[in-house]
Amino acid sequence: MPMNTDNHHHAPIDTRTRLVGLLGQPLGHSLSPVMHNQAFRILGLNYCYLPIEVADGDLETVTAGIAKMNFAGYNVTIPHKIRIMDCLDAVDSLAQAIGAVNTVTIRDGRSTGYNTDGIGFVRSLEAAGGLSIKGQAVMMLGSGGAARAIAMTLARQGAARIAIANRTAAKAHALAVDVNAQGRDCCQAVPLAPDALKVALRHTDILVNTTSVGMHPREGECPIPDHVLPGGLVVCDIVYNPRQTRLLNIARQKGCRLVEGLGMLVYQGAVGFQMWTGLEAPVEAMFDAISRVSSPK
Ligand code: NAP
Repeated sequence: MPMNTDNHHHAPIDTRTRLVGLLGQPLGHSLSPVMHNQAFRILGLNYCYLPIEVADGDLETVTAGIAKMNFAGYNVTIPHKIRIMDCLDAVDSLAQAIGAVNTVTIRDGRSTGYNTDGIGFVRSLEAAGGLSIKGQAVMMLGSGGAARAIAMTLARQGAARIAIANRTAAKAHALAVDVNAQGRDCCQAVPLAPDALKVALRHTDILVNTTSVGMHPREGECPIPDHVLPGGLVVCDIVYNPRQTRLLNIARQKGCRLVEGLGMLVYQGAVGFQMWTGLEAPVEAMFDAISRVSSPK
C-alpha cells in the first residue's frame, strides 16, 4: 500500500458519513476509489467512496438497497452501464442518447442516471489543450462504448464535423446514424484504410483514439500507421495505461499537441464529484492520487 504522505486528516466514519459507491465486476483495477477518497480527504469532507462488486443478477436488488441508505450516489462500470438504466427513476437526456449510465445521484431516495464520460473528455481537452470543441473538425478512431459517449457529447457541444473510422465499419456507420439522429447532420463514417485516413486527417483539427489499441500489455500497437498522421493536429488518446501510448509518441515526434487519457478519467470523476458534494472537485489532487498508484509512464 502506498503511504499517505499528506498532512490532511481523514474524517472518521460515523453516522453522518455520506457514501458513494462504484458498482461493477470485476473492480480490481479501478482507480476511482483512490481518486475520489483523496478528493474527499483533501477537502475534509465526511464522504467515503466504496468499491462494490455486483454480480449480473443482483443489480436491481443492490441499487434498490443503496437508494434507501446514506448514499449520495455511485458510479457504474462494466458490465452494468447499460442495464442500470432499468433500475433508475430517471435518466438524463445525454445519457439516454448515449445509451449508458456511468454516474448516479440519489436525492430524496430518487436515483437519476447521467453519463459523464463525454463531458470528461471535453473537459480534459479544454484543460490540456486550452481548446473548445465548438467549430472543430474531429476524427474518432473506434465505435465502442467510450466512442458513443464522446461522439454524442461532441455533437451536442457544437463540433463542426465528426468523422468515425472503425475496424468494423458497420459499427461506425451505425454510430454516425445515431449521432445525426440528435438533430445535427455533423457525423459520418470513414474507412479505416490508410489512404482514406491520410486524406481525412488533412481536414482534421482533433484526432481521438477511442479504441483499446495501444493499451497495456500491447503497448507496441498503434491504431493507425505512422505515415498517415500529419503534424499540427491535436492528438488525444483515451487509453491511459500506459499514459504515453505509441500513438501519442508518434504524434509528439510530428509536432502535434497531445492530450493523455488520464485527463478524461479524472474529469469524468470530477463531474460526478460535483454532483454528489455540490463542490468543485480538486482535480490536481485527483491526478496526484492516480499518478501515485498507477504505472509512471
Ligand atoms: P469497447 O466498447 O470494447 O470498444 C472497443 C473499440 O476498440 C471498438 O471500436 C473496437 O473495434 C476497437 N478495437 C479493439 N481492438 C481492436 C484492434 N485490435 N484493432 C482495431 N480496433 C480495435 O471499449 P470501450 O469501453 O469503448 O473502451 C475503449 C478504450 O478506451 C479502452 O482502452 C478503455 O480503457 C478506454 N477508456 C478510457 C476512458 C478514460 O476515462 N480515459 C474511459 C472509457 C474507456 P470493433 O468495433 O471493430 O471491435
